Amino acid sequence: RDKTDSLNRQRQVLEDLQLDTEHKAEELARASQYKSDFLANMSHELRTPLNSLLILSRSLADNETGNLDAEQIESARIIHDAGSNLLRLINDILDLSKIEAGKMELVVDDLPLADFERRLRRTFSHVAQEKKLDFDVTIDAGIPPVLRTDGARLEQVANNLIGNAFKFTVSGGVNIRIGRPDAALVLPEKFAGQALVAISVADTGIGIPAEKFDHIFHAFEQVDASTSRQYGGTGLGLAICLRIAELLGGDIILQSEQGKGSTFTVLLPEQPPEPAATPGEATPA
Ligand code: ADP
Repeated sequence: RDKTDSLNRQRQVLEDLQLDTEHKAEELARASQYKSDFLANMSHELRTPLNSLLILSRSLADNETGNLDAEQIESARIIHDAGSNLLRLINDILDLSKIEAGKMELVVDDLPLADFERRLRRTFSHVAQEKKLDFDVTIDAGIPPVLRTDGARLEQVANNLIGNAFKFTVSGGVNIRIGRPDAALVLPEKFAGQALVAISVADTGIGIPAEKFDHIFHAFEQVDASTSRQYGGTGLGLAICLRIAELLGGDIILQSEQGKGSTFTVLLPEQPPEPAATPGEATPA
């Protein structure tokens, strides 16, 4: 009898625990939903006034009225730059919260790789010229001319990686290759037996120490975390890139040697995974 009582008590404790856990899980899910709703609303409320500030400071920096002196024009330019950085941060936080809430919807369509190549060239050739760096984008023979993917999101990833490559390179240059994965690349197991397209962004910049390879893909992590950092940035870019690549059914692999340069390779399956094929809302600009 004692044994039955004790068993019943234990059963009761277990049932209570289970109820408690279910309740906690529900609470957590609700809190997480509040958090992403809050971030989405907040980002919207912040962007609206910021846009006015950007438009007005731009027109002042361009001295449209013609009656500003050099110092005033420089001040307007600084306001505009600071505003642009803030807008970038807000957009990054919004993207990250969308991804975390599982609300980043993909718009999968045919992406002609020649168009993609042309746009990357157009976006970055002036940066290359300004920094006096080599810059080339090539498409290897033998890969399909059209990729089924979310072209806008893929371009966001490429722009981010190429932007970083230019940011951390002072001599040599940046090379983009669209082709099959390099034979030397160790491919994640999840791709076994799949045909892959690789977009590699190679630079001859400062490089990344091996012990930081994982860190820099986490939000807000940078190789140089000191307050007197030489390079600007939020540390959100790579976290967003990796999550988007994963949403597209792919991955990002990093190879780097300090002082020599880095290569970030975006791997994409030739056929997108099933869930990615659901059409969603238009990707916001
Ligand atoms: P951000 O560039 O805004 O700091 P990212 O997430 O894009 O954030 O990058 C995180 C960190 O990874 C950078 O601060 C830098 O330390 C390192 N990093 C990224 N790309 C490169 C690169 N091409 N060469 C050297 N370091 C890089």
